[in-house]
Amino acid sequence: EAAARAAAVNADSGAPTIFDKIISKEIPSSIVYEDESVLAFRDISPQAPVHVLVIPKLRDGLTELGKAEKRHGEILGQLLYAARIVAEREGIIDGFRVVINSGASACQSVYHLHLHVLGGRQMKWPPG
Ligand code: ADP
Repeated sequence: EAAARAAAVNADSGAPTIFDKIISKEIPSSIVYEDESVLAFRDISPQAPVHVLVIPKLRDGLTELGKAEKRHGEILGQLLYAARIVAEREGIIDGFRVVINSGASACQSVYHLHLHVLGGRQMKWPPG
């Protein structure tokens, strides 16, 4: 029911992505945190000892952060808060990084908004 609803809403706002199948659990993922609105799972190609993606279950037009509207404020807040829960669960609350790549020049490859939560090693600045 929830998966069907997500598929319908997500199809409404851009081409389906691999994350739809992760949300519907058609494709297995290693889930770190889940609630009604948000899913967090391990990145398949980790760039740090901890690398978790946090996504909205309903994309609802949020293919990328650059498309966000005022009405997305609540889910954007939920995603950021979920990133903090993930950091705590993963034991990196003392130091972690949250990254959002928006658009091609930021190397976004999956057009379903996602936060990268990275940690477990010394991070460098500036990022590439
Ligand atoms: P980039 O691919 O340049 O990191 P994004 O910010 O769009 O751009 O990140 C998409 C992320 O999704 C990548 O880190 C990639 O490893 C991850 N990913 C792709 N497919 C899967 C999958 N099936 N399960 C978990 N993570 C995935």
